[in-house]
Amino acid sequence: MSENSAKKEVEVNTPYEVGDLVVYLVSKKPGNELAYVIDYDCRYELITTPTTCSCCTFMFRSRLDSNFKCRHIKALRTVLEMDM
Ligand SMILES: [Zn+2]
Repeated sequence: MSENSAKKEVEVNTPYEVGDLVVYLVSKKPGNELAYVIDYDCRYELITTPTTCSCCTFMFRSRLDSNFKCRHIKALRTVLEMDM
């Protein structure tokens, strides 16, 4: 088995670094994905799903744009290899 061609399975309870964020996946159940995202800038631990986030940016922007994805959502979707 080649390590390079094998697609790495995403693990829960494992921190993933995505840029300057750390995504800590708690559940990867399809439709029920949940992660804690740690933002080094503000040292917040955010609760993030592929469509929602507890950060202020998301709460404000999602009122104007229901499809808005903050960088925490994008980081989680990157870890889960979901489409943007
Ligand atoms: Zn966010």
